[in-house]
Amino acid sequence: MIQDTSNYQGRIAVVTGGAGFVASHLIDRLLADGLKVVALDNLVTGAMSNLAHLENDPNFSFIEHDVSEPYEVDGDVAFVFHMASPASPIDYVEIPVETLKAGSYATHHALDLAKRKRATFLVASTSEIYGDPEIHPQPESYWGNVNSIGVRSCYDEAKRYAEAVTMAYHRAHGVDTKIVRIFNTYGPRMRLDDGRVVPAFIGQALRGEPMTIFGDGSQTRSFCYVSDLVEGIWRLARSEFHEPVNCGNPHEMTIREFAEAIAGIFQVELKVDDRPLPPDDPKVRKPDIRRAKEQLGWEPQVSFAEGIGETIDYFREVVNPA
Ligand code: NAD
Ligand code: UDP
Repeated sequence: MIQDTSNYQGRIAVVTGGAGFVASHLIDRLLADGLKVVALDNLVTGAMSNLAHLENDPNFSFIEHDVSEPYEVDGDVAFVFHMASPASPIDYVEIPVETLKAGSYATHHALDLAKRKRATFLVASTSEIYGDPEIHPQPESYWGNVNSIGVRSCYDEAKRYAEAVTMAYHRAHGVDTKIVRIFNTYGPRMRLDDGRVVPAFIGQALRGEPMTIFGDGSQTRSFCYVSDLVEGIWRLARSEFHEPVNCGNPHEMTIREFAEAIAGIFQVELKVDDRPLPPDDPKVRKPDIRRAKEQLGWEPQVSFAEGIGETIDYFREVVNPA
């Protein structure tokens, strides 16, 4: 059963990484549904501009803080959403130690807060815990194929640890925990220069530059629009389900097909700037979302055409402000 939002009116949701892309959209949803939100962020990859529209909202407050260090939040906390972590490969490869701390120390601190407050805890895990998968599409029952010492391991293993410590707090301390395994998500408020393929190709198309396809472009990803993800996260948080749940869009495409789609929208011929494939870059990725359908009644609603249109409109404004 999914609890009704009326059960949480006026109660507090703590959101770590609140100035980031996904968490800022989650915060909008929580506020719209009548909760108060306390966001914590050290702005390592996020930006206050993602929260600027909430500046005068009496139900919202922001604390600049590195959540890998301890903290306390006063008041009636109903939820702790641990969203803080560098998420783009170029970000986490640059700050691998901070990334490992965000998955380990920061997950402990967020779980401890949830335990003290008897709050529900939700951690943002990732499809990266499946590594370079040998099973396709990936169901939650698959244990993954991760290089524990590769350049991506700072992220993948941190998230695997985050899942492990979350289940340990659930089993040993009875904390009400949830784990969402997020697959590639896109939408407004991504950083234009964060290196992920969606802002990279849209930015290049807007500037009339060739698109930087890594490798031969045959690797696949499945892109989920951010409002769909937020709906899945919010349903999971209000559910009684404690095992990990994949949230992503099963619409799979190769990176070359994605580049062609962007070129098609901009009505330009695809020009490619071939680049080497980064080490350990997963060759395929597509979520099996049967569990989310069964447990949460959730599946994505926003088509690729609609979501990418919204995202392009946002980046147009970033590149050429009115
Ligand atoms: P993002 O970089 O936009 O947001 C992450 C936020 O966390 C940023 O605001 C950053 O400043 C903050 N942060 C990082 N370390 C921190 C620390 N030690 N203390 C305080 N704040 C810290 O990334 P995003 O795409 O919004 O990702 C949000 C979460 O979802 C991450 O945990 C990420 O691993 C997970 N996730 C995202 C995707 C995706 O496709 N967007 C896919 C899988 C998982
Ligand atoms: N990619 C690319 N060109 C870019 C950025 C990324 O070809 O400029 C590829 C990358 O190698 C990967 C896919 O696009 O195969 C998705 O990359 P992203 O960084 O968005 O997310 P990932 O799924 O790797 O975490």
